[in-house]
Amino acid sequence: MRNIVLFTLLLILCVQPTNAYSVFDFGYSDQENANPTQLVYNIAAYSFVGILQYLLVSAIFEWKNPMPKNQKRMQNIKREIKYGTTQIFLQVAYSMIFYHYVYPYCSWYRYYTINQYGLLNFAYGMIFMYIWTTFLGYWVHRIFHFRFLYKYVHYIHHSFREPTAFGFCATHPLEGISEVNTVLHLAELIIPIHPLMTLFFFEYITVNEMMGHDGGEYDHSDHYKHHLYYVVNFGDTFMDEFFGTAYNSKNYPVKAKCTYVDNIEGRSEAIFLKYK
Ligand SMILES: [Zn+2]
Ligand SMILES: [Zn+2]
Repeated sequence: MRNIVLFTLLLILCVQPTNAYSVFDFGYSDQENANPTQLVYNIAAYSFVGILQYLLVSAIFEWKNPMPKNQKRMQNIKREIKYGTTQIFLQVAYSMIFYHYVYPYCSWYRYYTINQYGLLNFAYGMIFMYIWTTFLGYWVHRIFHFRFLYKYVHYIHHSFREPTAFGFCATHPLEGISEVNTVLHLAELIIPIHPLMTLFFFEYITVNEMMGHDGGEYDHSDHYKHHLYYVVNFGDTFMDEFFGTAYNSKNYPVKAKCTYVDNIEGRSEAIFLKYK
């Protein structure tokens, strides 16, 4: 029932204040952007910047994290970076291929100025993207917990039981691409989405995920507990409460043990509260 309500809401949102519906209008393409040299350059440039941002921002989170930087934690971080950097490169490549070879076939491909569709449409797009990414972000993640997908794909991300900010993108390539990029690009194919919105939501998701895996005071949706207890807190807090997957201490009387600190008695920082 709850799914039907949300799905109906999404369908209603798809009917929006423009007549720019022509997802199947393949008559328009931009040959300039289908240039392979430009594609290679874009993949190299954007993945370089992306990886740099990832390392820098995650390092700031880790620097502020009160967990000791002992050997176990450093080994964990190294492994996260190995998966994380590969993931960013693949995500960038995937998105660039989309922008070069798929997106130009959209009739609103040239939606680069807000005025083209009006401010109302821009505001509409922002609301749509928020609901779209929150809803699908939650469900794609839940689907990855289905036996087959967990066994072959999602298990990598859960091998980081106590992750750090570096671990937000430490996943199987298929996971990052479907949970983030595909969700964003599908929205771009359904309604006119200004590139600024995609960028905004991409960054919003990224920072939110970093904070969640850091497990500190900014882990708003309590994602750290998803790693400690596996089958709780899949996404946004509202979604987890709505679908009955929010963490409940009554269901977990035995608390998770902290790997990095032997005794957490008396420690009151946000990350230690995850274990209490
Ligand atoms: Zn999971
Ligand atoms: Zn995670």
